Amino acid sequence: MPPETKEAADIARMPYQLPFPKDAQEEIVIPDAMAEDERIWVPQAENVSFRPLCLNRSQGYWMNLLRVRKSGVLSRHRHPQPVHGFVLKGRWHYLEHDWEAREGSYVFEPPGETHTLVVPEDVPEMITYFQVNGVMLYVDPWGKTMGYEDVFTKIDMCRKHYEAVGLGADYVDRFIR
Ligand code: FE
Repeated sequence: MPPETKEAADIARMPYQLPFPKDAQEEIVIPDAMAEDERIWVPQAENVSFRPLCLNRSQGYWMNLLRVRKSGVLSRHRHPQPVHGFVLKGRWHYLEHDWEAREGSYVFEPPGETHTLVVPEDVPEMITYFQVNGVMLYVDPWGKTMGYEDVFTKIDMCRKHYEAVGLGADYVDRFIR
């Protein structure tokens, strides 16, 4: 419904007039998250890398773009907490499920999932936006834990990589909340 008076129309477009809570954190804005400097992509395994978007140490989750090239594999892992994913480019599937996620697909992975992400050979590059909560436990085919990742191991990986490529270890700080 259009505003009936000029005054109402002006108020509809007036920004919020008060300061934000003084304890609120700063927003993160990455204008071109998929096409930035290659150095921002952190190698994770052969043909697998990620770029951080939000490394949320206060709530224990991370948002990142996962990129897989040349039919790479993301090792089998268990999620005790939920994951949300949205495919931005390419296709992939899990060895444990019969569906395929492709460009434009949204995926919710409930707590209790254990899966192995595979990108098919005819896909040169796959990029998926993932929110991962808590921890990923890398496991053998029978569920024995072999290792883990959490927001703190992600932060450490970023620091080491950004230091090594000349951006400086503290480059990662802009993604941490
Ligand atoms: Fe996963």
